[in-house]
Amino acid sequence: MTVLLFQSDSYLKDFEATVVGFQDNALILDRTAFHPLSGGVDHDIGTLTVNRSQYNVIQVNEDRLTGNVFHVVEGKPNVSVGDRVKGSINWGRRYSLMKLHTAAHILSSILYNKYNAYVTGGQIDPQHARDDFSLDSSDRQVFEDAIDATNSIIEKGIEVKVYFLSREEALKIPGIVKLAQRAPPNLDILRIVEVPGVDIQADGGPHVQNTKEIGEIALEKIENKGKGRKRVYYKLSE
Ligand SMILES: [Zn+2]
Repeated sequence: MTVLLFQSDSYLKDFEATVVGFQDNALILDRTAFHPLSGGVDHDIGTLTVNRSQYNVIQVNEDRLTGNVFHVVEGKPNVSVGDRVKGSINWGRRYSLMKLHTAAHILSSILYNKYNAYVTGGQIDPQHARDDFSLDSSDRQVFEDAIDATNSIIEKGIEVKVYFLSREEALKIPGIVKLAQRAPPNLDILRIVEVPGVDIQADGGPHVQNTKEIGEIALEKIENKGKGRKRVYYKLSE
């Protein structure tokens, strides 16, 4: 099982680790700062240096059963189990993902509080975020208003809190239940991401420390995917 270093420090850019396994052109490490594709949030890219050779990391996947993280590199790596590795993540890409991910939490809380709308799907890549909401209205104004409200919260500069709770304690928090149920059922400890006064979720991904870092988001388009399913695309404003 790979220790996910970004869960305790989302700002870690460089790290050292040990190779614990490999498969074709993928390395499994004992610890990593690379975020694997999960929860709809795109994976990191970057480099791994091992035995004086540097490899580009082009894909990162997590095996949910074993908790092993596979770092897929370009070319056939010359490695053995036990080798020491230096890793670096592409920070620009990761920081965009963190900003959009934190913005997605705020937007979803606004639509939940105002319309009782749930997020039924979503995807975040460095350029765009996309969320599906269980909403009947596809009125553009509804989403314009929600994006404006999100930007007002971002501007307040709220410190985002990340902490770990036992499953039992976490399930006592009002509003967390629907999300905690989506977490793997065998997790005894849940990682909680809280934007105080706005949103609280059980969440394993990297987020910004302060909402102000997000800057501003802008609505791109909305799509009507049928009754009770509206898709919204947004991005970071330049
Ligand atoms: Zn999240």
